[in-house]
Amino acid sequence: GGMTALLEVDDLRVRYGRSTALSGVDLTVSDGELVAVAGANGAGKSTLVNAVAGWSRGKVSATGAIRLGGHDIATLPAHKRTKLGVVLVPEGKSVFERMTVEENLRMVRPPREASGRRYEVSDVYDVFPQLPARAHARCSTLSGGERQMVAIGRALRAAPRLLILDEPSVGLAPRLVVEVLEHIRELVTSGLSVLLVEQNVRATLEVADRLYLLEQGQVVGAGPCTEMRDDDRIVSAYLGRL
Ligand code: ATP
Repeated sequence: GGMTALLEVDDLRVRYGRSTALSGVDLTVSDGELVAVAGANGAGKSTLVNAVAGWSRGKVSATGAIRLGGHDIATLPAHKRTKLGVVLVPEGKSVFERMTVEENLRMVRPPREASGRRYEVSDVYDVFPQLPARAHARCSTLSGGERQMVAIGRALRAAPRLLILDEPSVGLAPRLVVEVLEHIRELVTSGLSVLLVEQNVRATLEVADRLYLLEQGQVVGAGPCTEMRDDDRIVSAYLGRL
């Protein structure tokens, strides 16, 4: 202990109207850590990452502390959190389909006060070596994997301190899931901190440092992936018999 985590979520409770989506979630992400959140549909994974980024859909009420580098950001609007380096790639479409790859990447500029690493477009191409060949292709013509790389590339352009990815592999073929997760791992190896929602628990356990298991709005298990691989709840719900 001793070191303050980059992200600290403390007793987070979120309700949509009268229905409770999160009932007291504690979570941390340290500098340079890849932390994954898994759980069934409706467990509250998107609610959790949206609350961290300050995105609210509809009638949401949230309580609890959300600290970035020790400072409470829970009451800041989403755009201020982005400037501080909390950058969320939401589930689903987050590229402009009718624009080219390069246009998508160029239109995002790091905020002046950005404290995260600044990625030039060429840096994004270094991260995703298959993108330069597609630089002038419209995003509507990309494969699902390429499109996801552009979405992550756009987030990198915003100079994140904490990159949050909500189900980046949804809809991708298994081979591409592994490829996208390996790219995410490389980003973390180069110093980025990542909070990842992922439904492919088997593949996630191979790349993440720690995993939180969410059920009905509560953390029912958490620990290093090396240990979570043997957790009965993980094995029975996600890994099954080999
Ligand atoms: P999925 O894998 O399906 O995305 P999830 O784990 O991300 O699921 P959430 O989307 O966070 O789960 O949903 C948690 C609970 O909150 C669910 O019961 C869901 O129906 C409810 N919920 C989510 N968004 C809203 C909203 N905008 N208004 C009302 N209820 C919502």
